[in-house]
Amino acid sequence: MAEIINGKLVSQAKREELKKRVSALNKAGKQVGLAVIIVGNNSASRVYVNNKKKGCEEIGVISYEYALPEQTTQQELLDLINELNNKAEVNGILCQLPLPAHIDEQVVINNINPQKDVDAFHPFNVGHIMIGDYTFLPCTPAGIMEMLKFYNISVSGKKCVVIGRSNIVGKPMAMLLLKENGTVEICHSRTANLKEECLTADILVAAVGKAGFVTADMVKEGAVVIDVGMNRNEEGKLCGDVCYDEVFEKASFITPVPGGVGPMTITMLLENTVRSAEAYN
Ligand code: NAP
Repeated sequence: MAEIINGKLVSQAKREELKKRVSALNKAGKQVGLAVIIVGNNSASRVYVNNKKKGCEEIGVISYEYALPEQTTQQELLDLINELNNKAEVNGILCQLPLPAHIDEQVVINNINPQKDVDAFHPFNVGHIMIGDYTFLPCTPAGIMEMLKFYNISVSGKKCVVIGRSNIVGKPMAMLLLKENGTVEICHSRTANLKEECLTADILVAAVGKAGFVTADMVKEGAVVIDVGMNRNEEGKLCGDVCYDEVFEKASFITPVPGGVGPMTITMLLENTVRSAEAYN
């Protein structure tokens, strides 16, 4: 039977630490600010943006919201980003993805000042993650590393299997596990013998986006199982990539969905914003 990795608990502890760091900056006469841009009327994006603003409020970061209409042109968005790049009171710029189809997301990311790129998606920051020398880490993988540390789960020398190779989760996750001296393997939709590969994992990270993808027969006895997936099942209930009940019986640690990786992601965005203020203000 597994011990549950409680993302809410780790997140709360981290936010307490962040509150203190913001307060120290305030005492030194510095405010911390996050600009949040949302384009269009995507209801999921609106929920995420509201949660990010609430998180800012909780730790004393000032949030500036820019809600732009769906028909905003790419140039108008780039002009706003340029303005925010030059605003001293803005330490972090977050442009909520996905953007409407007529806007090229990579062009937008490339135009954010890397020192304010609190999502860590800019190629400059991605490169720094590759060489293991960074200011910002992508929020979801960084949150997972925080949870492992909180529960004293050592990565060094462990076999780590990451299912998924996205730029946002899978690839940076692999780099962070490697930096902590894990022996890392990345699996994806073309991986042959996925089940056998997963069975070798001491630490298994599932970032696939398919409900019930990881079954107990893919998990080694005593493995640490991290479920990044955020899916809706047939009843519309939020669920991860892992068949929780059956894998719970085999794993040594497991993250639930909800209440696992999810709560950490916004907290690590706040960490990056505070870090930007500390490093570059
Ligand atoms: P993504 O860009 O769609 O990537 C999914 C990955 O899964 C791809 O690399 C894909 O392989 C792989 N995959 C798909 N089917 C597979 C199969 N049958 N066997 C093996 N690999 C397979 O998704 P993402 O952005 O990384 O997100 C993954 C999940 O995490 C989603 O549910 C997302 O909602 C969730 N998420 C959660 C948080 C959070 O805060 N909790 C944050 C970000 C994402 P190919 O590359 O070969 O196509």
